[in-house]
Amino acid sequence: MYRIKHNLLLLICLLLVTAQVGLAAQVQVDFLDVGQGDAVLIHSSDGGVLLIDAGIQSAGAAVVVPHIKRLGIEDIDAVVMTHPHSDHIGGLIPVLEQIPVARVYSNYQVHTTQLYERLLLLIESLDIPFLLAEPGTEIPIAGIDRIEVLHPSQPLSDQINNNSIVLRMEVDGVSFLFTGDIEKEAEQLLINKRAELAADIIKVPHHGSSTSSHHEFVAAVQPSTAVIMVGEGNRYGHPDLEVLVRYQAAGAEIYRTDHHGTITVRVEDGVVSIETAKSRVGADQRLNLNSATLEELQTVPGIGPVLAARIITYREEFGFDSVEDLINITGIGAKTLEQIRDYFYVY
Ligand SMILES: [Zn+2]
Repeated sequence: MYRIKHNLLLLICLLLVTAQVGLAAQVQVDFLDVGQGDAVLIHSSDGGVLLIDAGIQSAGAAVVVPHIKRLGIEDIDAVVMTHPHSDHIGGLIPVLEQIPVARVYSNYQVHTTQLYERLLLLIESLDIPFLLAEPGTEIPIAGIDRIEVLHPSQPLSDQINNNSIVLRMEVDGVSFLFTGDIEKEAEQLLINKRAELAADIIKVPHHGSSTSSHHEFVAAVQPSTAVIMVGEGNRYGHPDLEVLVRYQAAGAEIYRTDHHGTITVRVEDGVVSIETAKSRVGADQRLNLNSATLEELQTVPGIGPVLAARIITYREEFGFDSVEDLINITGIGAKTLEQIRDYFYVY
Protein backbone atom coordinates (compact mmCIF):
# COMPACT_ATOMS: atom_id res chain seq x y z
CA MET A 1 0.00 0.00 0.00
CA TYR A 2 2.77 2.37 0.95
CA ARG A 3 4.56 1.57 -2.26
CA ILE A 4 1.54 2.28 -4.46
CA LYS A 5 0.94 5.57 -2.76
CA HIS A 6 4.58 6.48 -3.10
CA ASN A 7 4.61 5.69 -6.82
CA LEU A 8 1.44 7.65 -7.36
CA LEU A 9 2.95 10.64 -5.65
CA LEU A 10 6.05 10.34 -7.80
CA LEU A 11 3.90 10.20 -10.93
CA ILE A 12 1.97 13.31 -9.89
CA CYS A 13 5.23 15.16 -9.26
CA LEU A 14 6.53 14.10 -12.67
CA LEU A 15 3.33 15.26 -14.35
CA LEU A 16 3.59 18.62 -12.65
CA VAL A 17 7.21 19.03 -13.72
CA THR A 18 6.36 18.10 -17.31
CA ALA A 19 3.45 20.53 -17.36
CA GLN A 20 5.70 23.31 -16.04
CA VAL A 21 8.38 22.62 -18.63
CA GLY A 22 5.77 22.59 -21.42
CA LEU A 23 4.35 25.86 -20.20
CA ALA A 24 7.71 27.59 -19.98
CA ALA A 25 8.40 27.06 -23.66
CA GLN A 26 5.25 28.61 -25.01
CA VAL A 27 5.15 31.83 -26.97
CA GLN A 28 2.03 33.17 -28.65
CA VAL A 29 1.94 35.71 -31.47
CA ASP A 30 -1.47 37.26 -32.15
CA PHE A 31 -1.88 39.02 -35.48
CA LEU A 32 -4.93 41.02 -34.47
CA ASP A 33 -7.74 41.74 -36.89
CA VAL A 34 -7.79 45.53 -36.68
CA GLY A 35 -9.11 46.04 -40.22
CA GLN A 36 -6.69 48.00 -42.43
CA GLY A 37 -3.68 48.33 -40.14
CA ASP A 38 -1.16 46.40 -38.07
CA ALA A 39 -1.30 45.18 -34.45
CA VAL A 40 0.79 42.22 -33.28
CA LEU A 41 0.82 41.07 -29.67
CA ILE A 42 3.59 38.71 -28.58
CA HIS A 43 3.42 37.11 -25.14
CA SER A 44 5.28 34.28 -23.49
CA SER A 45 4.30 31.95 -20.70
CA ASP A 46 7.25 33.47 -18.80
CA GLY A 47 5.22 36.68 -18.65
CA GLY A 48 7.01 38.65 -21.37
CA VAL A 49 4.79 40.96 -23.46
CA LEU A 50 5.63 42.93 -26.60
CA LEU A 51 3.16 44.92 -28.72
CA ILE A 52 4.07 45.96 -32.27
CA ASP A 53 1.70 48.71 -33.49
CA ALA A 54 -1.99 48.85 -32.57
CA GLY A 55 -4.07 49.72 -35.66
CA ILE A 56 -6.08 52.91 -36.00
CA GLN A 57 -7.26 54.63 -32.84
CA SER A 58 -10.79 53.15 -32.77
CA ALA A 59 -9.41 49.64 -33.40
CA GLY A 60 -6.98 50.09 -30.53
CA ALA A 61 -9.89 50.80 -28.21
CA ALA A 62 -12.28 48.20 -29.66
CA VAL A 63 -9.90 45.33 -30.43
CA VAL A 64 -6.38 45.67 -28.99
CA VAL A 65 -7.14 46.79 -25.42
CA PRO A 66 -9.97 44.24 -24.87
CA HIS A 67 -7.80 41.46 -26.34
CA ILE A 68 -4.93 42.25 -23.97
CA LYS A 69 -7.28 42.42 -20.99
CA ARG A 70 -9.02 39.17 -21.96
CA LEU A 71 -5.67 37.42 -21.85
CA GLY A 72 -5.21 38.64 -18.29
CA ILE A 73 -2.16 40.72 -19.26
CA GLU A 74 -1.76 43.56 -16.77
CA ASP A 75 1.26 45.34 -18.19
CA ILE A 76 3.34 45.48 -21.34
CA ASP A 77 7.14 45.25 -21.31
CA ALA A 78 7.70 46.99 -24.61
CA VAL A 79 5.77 48.69 -27.39
CA VAL A 80 7.30 49.10 -30.84
CA MET A 81 5.80 51.76 -33.10
CA THR A 82 7.10 50.78 -36.54
CA HIS A 83 6.38 54.17 -38.15
CA PRO A 84 4.05 57.06 -37.36
CA HIS A 85 1.16 56.37 -39.75
CA SER A 86 -2.30 56.32 -38.21
CA ASP A 87 -3.06 52.68 -39.12
CA HIS A 88 -0.11 51.66 -36.93
CA ILE A 89 0.09 54.17 -34.08
CA GLY A 90 -3.48 55.44 -33.60
CA GLY A 91 -4.45 52.49 -31.41
CA LEU A 92 -1.45 53.03 -29.16
CA ILE A 93 -3.23 56.00 -27.58
CA PRO A 94 -5.99 53.91 -25.90
CA VAL A 95 -3.42 51.19 -25.11
CA LEU A 96 -1.08 53.59 -23.28
CA GLU A 97 -4.02 55.28 -21.56
CA GLN A 98 -5.33 51.99 -20.17
CA ILE A 99 -2.40 49.59 -19.74
CA PRO A 100 0.97 50.29 -18.07
CA VAL A 101 3.84 50.13 -20.60
CA ALA A 102 7.47 49.87 -19.45
CA ARG A 103 9.14 51.28 -22.57
CA VAL A 104 8.41 52.41 -26.11
CA TYR A 105 10.73 51.87 -29.11
CA SER A 106 10.60 54.22 -32.08
CA ASN A 107 12.71 55.15 -35.09
CA TYR A 108 12.62 58.82 -33.90
CA GLN A 109 10.88 59.81 -37.13
CA VAL A 110 9.93 63.47 -37.24
CA HIS A 111 6.43 63.58 -38.66
CA THR A 112 4.08 66.35 -37.82
CA THR A 113 0.57 65.02 -37.57
CA GLN A 114 -1.70 65.87 -34.66
CA LEU A 115 -2.13 62.18 -33.88
CA TYR A 116 1.63 61.54 -33.65
CA GLU A 117 2.09 64.66 -31.57
CA ARG A 118 -0.67 63.52 -29.20
CA LEU A 119 0.98 60.12 -28.83
CA LEU A 120 4.41 61.63 -28.12
CA LEU A 121 2.91 63.96 -25.52
CA LEU A 122 1.11 61.03 -23.91
CA ILE A 123 4.36 59.02 -23.69
CA GLU A 124 6.06 62.03 -22.14
CA SER A 125 3.28 62.69 -19.63
CA LEU A 126 3.29 59.03 -18.56
CA ASP A 127 7.07 59.22 -18.19
CA ILE A 128 7.62 56.11 -20.33
CA PRO A 129 11.23 55.62 -21.51
CA PHE A 130 11.28 56.43 -25.25
CA LEU A 131 14.06 54.45 -26.89
CA LEU A 132 15.63 54.47 -30.34
CA ALA A 133 15.39 51.23 -32.32
CA GLU A 134 18.22 50.86 -34.83
CA PRO A 135 20.19 47.94 -36.30
CA GLY A 136 21.79 46.02 -33.48
CA THR A 137 19.25 47.07 -30.85
CA GLU A 138 18.00 44.04 -28.97
CA ILE A 139 14.63 44.07 -27.23
CA PRO A 140 14.72 41.81 -24.19
CA ILE A 141 11.42 40.01 -23.52
CA ALA A 142 11.14 37.20 -20.96
CA GLY A 143 10.65 33.79 -22.56
CA ILE A 144 11.85 34.88 -26.01
CA ASP A 145 15.33 33.91 -27.16
CA ARG A 146 16.07 36.99 -29.23
CA ILE A 147 14.40 40.03 -30.76
CA GLU A 148 16.70 42.12 -32.89
CA VAL A 149 16.16 45.33 -34.84
CA LEU A 150 17.35 45.04 -38.47
CA HIS A 151 16.20 48.41 -39.80
CA PRO A 152 16.23 51.48 -40.14
CA SER A 153 19.63 53.11 -39.70
CA GLN A 154 20.03 56.77 -38.85
CA PRO A 155 19.81 59.21 -40.48
CA LEU A 156 16.40 58.18 -41.78
CA SER A 157 15.37 58.45 -45.42
CA ASP A 158 12.61 60.84 -46.48
CA GLN A 159 10.13 57.97 -46.98
CA ILE A 160 8.10 57.21 -43.89
CA ASN A 161 7.10 53.66 -44.94
CA ASN A 162 10.67 52.73 -45.78
CA ASN A 163 11.78 53.90 -42.34
CA SER A 164 9.55 51.28 -40.65
CA ILE A 165 11.23 49.33 -37.89
CA VAL A 166 11.98 45.76 -39.02
CA LEU A 167 12.35 43.12 -36.30
CA ARG A 168 13.58 39.55 -36.39
CA MET A 169 12.52 37.25 -33.56
CA GLU A 170 13.78 33.78 -32.62
CA VAL A 171 11.75 31.44 -30.43
CA ASP A 172 12.87 27.84 -29.94
CA GLY A 173 14.46 27.74 -33.39
CA VAL A 174 11.40 29.31 -35.05
CA SER A 175 12.02 32.70 -36.68
CA PHE A 176 9.67 35.60 -37.33
CA LEU A 177 10.18 38.71 -39.43
CA PHE A 178 8.07 41.81 -38.70
CA THR A 179 8.37 44.35 -41.47
CA GLY A 180 6.00 47.27 -40.83
CA ASP A 181 5.25 49.04 -44.11
CA ILE A 182 8.66 48.80 -45.79
CA GLU A 183 8.70 48.88 -49.57
CA LYS A 184 11.12 47.76 -52.24
CA GLU A 185 13.78 50.38 -51.36
CA ALA A 186 14.14 49.22 -47.75
CA GLU A 187 13.87 45.57 -48.78
CA GLN A 188 16.76 46.07 -51.20
CA LEU A 189 18.78 47.86 -48.54
CA LEU A 190 18.35 44.91 -46.18
CA ILE A 191 19.40 42.46 -48.90
CA ASN A 192 22.43 44.58 -49.85
CA LYS A 193 23.72 44.70 -46.30
CA ARG A 194 23.13 40.95 -45.92
CA ALA A 195 20.72 41.27 -43.02
CA GLU A 196 19.49 37.96 -41.66
CA LEU A 197 16.15 37.87 -43.46
CA ALA A 198 15.41 34.14 -43.64
CA ALA A 199 12.33 33.49 -41.49
CA ASP A 200 9.70 30.82 -41.03
CA ILE A 201 6.93 33.34 -40.55
CA ILE A 202 6.73 36.80 -42.08
CA LYS A 203 4.36 39.66 -41.40
CA VAL A 204 4.12 40.65 -45.07
CA PRO A 205 5.31 44.25 -45.63
CA HIS A 206 2.80 47.06 -46.17
CA HIS A 207 -0.45 45.06 -46.14
CA GLY A 208 0.57 43.07 -49.24
CA SER A 209 1.04 46.17 -51.39
CA SER A 210 2.43 45.82 -54.94
CA THR A 211 5.23 48.23 -53.97
CA SER A 212 6.64 45.69 -51.49
CA SER A 213 7.61 41.99 -51.37
CA HIS A 214 9.67 42.12 -54.54
CA HIS A 215 11.04 38.81 -55.89
CA GLU A 216 14.50 39.02 -54.39
CA PHE A 217 13.11 39.86 -50.96
CA VAL A 218 10.63 36.98 -50.91
CA ALA A 219 13.43 34.66 -52.04
CA ALA A 220 15.67 35.92 -49.23
CA VAL A 221 13.01 35.40 -46.56
CA GLN A 222 11.73 32.09 -47.98
CA PRO A 223 8.87 31.90 -45.44
CA SER A 224 6.68 28.88 -44.87
CA THR A 225 3.92 31.14 -43.53
CA ALA A 226 3.04 34.64 -44.76
CA VAL A 227 0.62 36.75 -42.73
CA ILE A 228 -1.06 39.68 -44.46
CA MET A 229 -2.68 42.28 -42.20
CA VAL A 230 -5.33 43.91 -44.32
CA GLY A 231 -8.85 45.32 -44.09
CA GLU A 232 -11.72 43.68 -45.92
CA GLY A 233 -12.57 45.58 -49.13
CA ASN A 234 -9.94 48.25 -48.39
CA ARG A 235 -9.67 51.16 -50.83
CA TYR A 236 -6.00 50.49 -51.62
CA GLY A 237 -6.64 47.16 -53.34
CA HIS A 238 -4.40 45.39 -50.81
CA PRO A 239 -3.22 42.70 -51.04
CA ASP A 240 -1.87 42.71 -54.58
CA LEU A 241 -2.59 39.51 -56.52
CA GLU A 242 0.99 39.20 -57.80
CA VAL A 243 2.30 39.49 -54.26
CA LEU A 244 0.03 36.62 -53.20
CA VAL A 245 1.24 34.51 -56.10
CA ARG A 246 4.88 35.34 -55.29
CA TYR A 247 4.57 34.06 -51.71
CA GLN A 248 2.61 31.01 -52.83
CA ALA A 249 5.22 30.21 -55.48
CA ALA A 250 7.90 30.46 -52.77
CA GLY A 251 6.03 27.73 -50.89
CA ALA A 252 4.38 29.90 -48.23
CA GLU A 253 0.95 29.32 -46.83
CA ILE A 254 -0.94 32.61 -46.75
CA TYR A 255 -3.03 33.90 -43.89
CA ARG A 256 -4.95 37.17 -44.13
CA THR A 257 -6.71 39.05 -41.37
CA ASP A 258 -9.51 40.08 -43.79
CA HIS A 259 -10.38 36.43 -44.41
CA HIS A 260 -9.22 34.70 -41.23
CA GLY A 261 -9.79 37.36 -38.58
CA THR A 262 -7.21 37.33 -35.81
CA ILE A 263 -4.44 34.83 -36.54
CA THR A 264 -2.72 33.17 -33.60
CA VAL A 265 0.65 31.50 -34.02
CA ARG A 266 1.89 29.39 -31.10
CA VAL A 267 5.39 28.06 -30.64
CA GLU A 268 5.65 25.32 -28.09
CA ASP A 269 8.92 23.40 -27.75
CA GLY A 270 9.84 24.47 -31.25
CA VAL A 271 6.55 23.25 -32.75
CA VAL A 272 4.38 25.81 -34.57
CA SER A 273 0.59 25.72 -34.55
CA ILE A 274 -1.69 28.26 -36.18
CA GLU A 275 -5.27 29.04 -35.27
CA THR A 276 -7.59 31.53 -36.93
CA ALA A 277 -10.67 33.26 -35.53
CA LYS A 278 -12.68 32.44 -38.64
CA SER A 279 -12.24 30.60 -41.88
CA ARG A 280 -13.23 32.52 -44.96
CA VAL A 281 -16.11 30.19 -45.57
CA GLY A 282 -17.34 27.83 -42.90
CA ALA A 283 -16.45 24.20 -43.65
CA ASP A 284 -20.14 23.28 -43.59
CA GLN A 285 -20.95 25.92 -46.21
CA ARG A 286 -18.45 24.71 -48.78
CA LEU A 287 -19.63 22.93 -51.92
CA ASN A 288 -18.27 19.70 -53.36
CA LEU A 289 -17.36 20.50 -56.97
CA ASN A 290 -18.19 16.93 -57.98
CA SER A 291 -21.77 17.02 -56.72
CA ALA A 292 -23.01 20.61 -56.32
CA THR A 293 -26.18 21.39 -58.30
CA LEU A 294 -26.57 24.14 -60.88
CA GLU A 295 -28.51 26.18 -58.32
CA GLU A 296 -25.99 25.63 -55.50
CA LEU A 297 -23.09 26.71 -57.70
CA GLN A 298 -24.83 30.03 -58.34
CA THR A 299 -24.87 30.85 -54.63
CA VAL A 300 -21.12 31.52 -54.86
CA PRO A 301 -20.35 35.22 -55.47
CA GLY A 302 -19.10 35.66 -59.03
CA ILE A 303 -20.68 32.49 -60.43
CA GLY A 304 -23.73 33.05 -62.63
CA PRO A 305 -25.76 30.54 -64.70
CA VAL A 306 -23.20 30.43 -67.53
CA LEU A 307 -20.18 29.59 -65.35
CA ALA A 308 -22.25 27.17 -63.28
CA ALA A 309 -23.27 25.31 -66.45
CA ARG A 310 -19.65 25.19 -67.65
CA ILE A 311 -18.54 23.75 -64.31
CA ILE A 312 -21.11 20.96 -64.65
CA THR A 313 -20.12 20.27 -68.27
CA TYR A 314 -16.47 20.02 -67.22
CA ARG A 315 -17.37 17.77 -64.33
CA GLU A 316 -19.34 15.38 -66.55
CA GLU A 317 -16.44 15.12 -68.98
CA PHE A 318 -13.38 15.10 -66.70
CA GLY A 319 -14.42 15.21 -63.04
CA PHE A 320 -12.59 17.43 -60.56
CA ASP A 321 -9.38 16.18 -58.98
CA SER A 322 -8.76 19.43 -57.14
CA VAL A 323 -10.32 22.86 -56.73
CA GLU A 324 -7.46 24.22 -58.88
CA ASP A 325 -8.96 22.40 -61.89
CA LEU A 326 -11.45 25.29 -62.06
CA ILE A 327 -8.72 27.20 -63.90
CA ASN A 328 -9.43 24.97 -66.96
CA ILE A 329 -12.89 26.47 -67.31
CA THR A 330 -13.32 29.30 -69.79
CA GLY A 331 -14.08 32.49 -67.86
CA ILE A 332 -12.19 31.51 -64.72
CA GLY A 333 -8.73 33.08 -64.53
CA ALA A 334 -6.21 33.24 -61.69
CA LYS A 335 -7.97 36.19 -60.09
CA THR A 336 -11.43 34.60 -60.11
CA LEU A 337 -10.00 31.32 -58.85
CA GLU A 338 -8.42 33.15 -55.91
CA GLN A 339 -11.80 34.73 -55.11
CA ILE A 340 -13.89 31.57 -55.29
CA ARG A 341 -11.54 28.70 -54.30
CA ASP A 342 -12.44 28.76 -50.62
CA TYR A 343 -16.10 28.09 -51.42
CA PHE A 344 -15.30 24.62 -52.75
CA TYR A 345 -13.81 21.30 -51.94
CA VAL A 346 -13.40 18.17 -53.99
CA TYR A 347 -14.54 14.73 -52.95
ZN1 LIG B 1 0.15 50.68 -42.86
